[in-house]
Amino acid sequence: MANKGQIGVTTENIFPVIKQFLYSDHEIFLRELVANAVDATQKLKALALSGDCKEELGELQVRIELDPKKKVLKVIDAGIGMTEEEVDKYINQIAFSSAGEFLEKYKDQIGNIIGHFGLGFYSAFMVSKKVTIDTLSWKEGSKAVLWSCDGSPEYEMKESKRTERGTEITLYLDDDSAEYAEKSRIEGLLGKYCKFMPVPIVFGKEQEWKDGKYVDTDKDHVVNSVEPLWTKAPSELKEEDYKSFYRALYPMNEEPLFHIHLNVDYPFNLTGILYFPKIKDRVAIERNKISLYCNQMFVTDHVDNIVPDFLTLLHGVIDSPDIPLNVSRSYLQSDANVKKISTYITKKVADRLEEIFKNERTALEEKWDNLKLFIEYGMLSDEKFCERALKFALLKNTDGKYFSFDEYKAAVEGEQTDKDKKLVYLYATDVEEQYAFIEAAKSKGYDVLLLDCELDSHYVNLLEQKLKDTRFARVDSDAVENLIPKGEKVKLEMKEDERYDLENLFKAVLPGGNDYYVTGENLGAEEAPILITRSEFMRRYREMSALGGGMNFYGSMPESFNITVNMENPLVEKILAAKAVEVAPQGELPAEAPKDAPEAEKTRVREEREAVRKAHKADIEQFAAGNEILHQITDLALLANGMLKGKALSDFIARSQKVVSDAYLK
Ligand code: ADP
Repeated sequence: MANKGQIGVTTENIFPVIKQFLYSDHEIFLRELVANAVDATQKLKALALSGDCKEELGELQVRIELDPKKKVLKVIDAGIGMTEEEVDKYINQIAFSSAGEFLEKYKDQIGNIIGHFGLGFYSAFMVSKKVTIDTLSWKEGSKAVLWSCDGSPEYEMKESKRTERGTEITLYLDDDSAEYAEKSRIEGLLGKYCKFMPVPIVFGKEQEWKDGKYVDTDKDHVVNSVEPLWTKAPSELKEEDYKSFYRALYPMNEEPLFHIHLNVDYPFNLTGILYFPKIKDRVAIERNKISLYCNQMFVTDHVDNIVPDFLTLLHGVIDSPDIPLNVSRSYLQSDANVKKISTYITKKVADRLEEIFKNERTALEEKWDNLKLFIEYGMLSDEKFCERALKFALLKNTDGKYFSFDEYKAAVEGEQTDKDKKLVYLYATDVEEQYAFIEAAKSKGYDVLLLDCELDSHYVNLLEQKLKDTRFARVDSDAVENLIPKGEKVKLEMKEDERYDLENLFKAVLPGGNDYYVTGENLGAEEAPILITRSEFMRRYREMSALGGGMNFYGSMPESFNITVNMENPLVEKILAAKAVEVAPQGELPAEAPKDAPEAEKTRVREEREAVRKAHKADIEQFAAGNEILHQITDLALLANGMLKGKALSDFIARSQKVVSDAYLK
């Protein structure tokens, strides 16, 4: 029956082309061949189940054999095999014509191919100079066939001496592909692509340690687990099973926080197990730790077009035959099935978290700090998830107590509603740095949340949109009296020139490079002379532009601080009294030029007025420079805010030492 034929492709010799185009993906040939062998085995099992095939099935393994010296690799199965007609049809006509079609279709956009999928049998030629198929069909009376092809479009088919049912594919590896003649390389590939295939895959023998080295035993080494955890019913599984499966998937990782077992068969088929990993900070985030399988065959670990962005932070496995594989990534996103799957997974994740919130509250609180970044990111990036999460997300206060949104509202409503009936949630971002402010707020009966996550400035904005009549204020954004205004504030009356002098007095001793907004207030004789706060609004915009990465408008503005001078503090009174004596009042300003005066005249008058102001400002600055109390109280306020650095700090220390000596030694 020996016969020769031309494989029906257009290109004279497609194999070099295949090799070149699919260069980076050569390794997938092994997955394709093993997948075919697994398919053939599964088909045989189905035939036996239906009663069509009555013969003894024997051991149904797929065997991988490697001869490193001869550079020959075999994939052997005991599946359905192929008859001569079938080889002709599936290999000569279909497999190779699809090779031609493939090239035809992608020749203009090879760079874009996602597809290393569905290359099937002919991907063997990416690594081989010659391939043979030795096969015997399960069908009664079939004759074994030996097919071979050396990479030219010509093939040869003849009768074979094979007596066992099934197929043996032999690859004569080409010189460029010598790496695949290495045992460790094949082992690695089997681990990557075949770890969970549903038929035992045997490669070599189990080894044991004997006389100082590893030696083969006679036990076959099965590389895969045919019933991975996600294929089992959740009711049969224990927490420990999920944990040990996680360890098998990611041996280097810390234990996960929680898991979700996905299992749906309508309107699409999907199983899988997802894990919430411990996320400590943004730097430690690992994406693409979810592997996508199709009927236990590894496809990819880039699921970014299949699940919403925030879910790519999860780890685990998704297995679905309903995700189209041989389409482009952009198409994938618009695929109706994929959309449904994505919505389903999001919903499942939210369901699970809600369940944990309801039934495992203590565990949720214990793990919250490591889960929070994930949830906040999800809420910020996914509208639907956000709506759900408002029911189970937690808030943590500076005392380490956790609240749901509803609980928190109920807890602070009484004390923290302002005059406009708005709830004011106070928060700190750093317990150490903002210590004094936190204590001040607490002593007024307020609660202070801790929002120390990198996403929190965005998160605060989001929550202000989502929570009704609620606004957030950082504890250091104003004097504690003003954080939650309960009534109209009585403003301190100050004359314009008084205000001008006060502002210049303090600006003269505050560090340069920032914007200061100086005001006087009566805060009581016992209170500190100066309070430095940062406007909530300006600070938030700066933080968000910093997170966004770009140098936008707010990011490039100087930092601005509110300086509240306590006019009732005796030290402030003393400084102002000294100023009144030592600094002459500002000289009389010449009258402004009339509107219709010539331009030159206007300029002259303007410059004269300016000169008077400047002279007065210089007087104030000179006074400020020589006033020790002014320096000392300003520096103390800066110090309280962690803003006293470098030379200013060492000047302050020197000055303080002198003050202390004067106080104690004289
Ligand atoms: P695909 O697997 O995508 O259909 P392939 O090119 O890999 O494409 O294979 C073409 C056909 O050849 C398969 O559909 C199957 O019918 C047959 N075939 C391939 N390998 C085997 C095998 N090991 N045993 C039985 N049939 C096989």
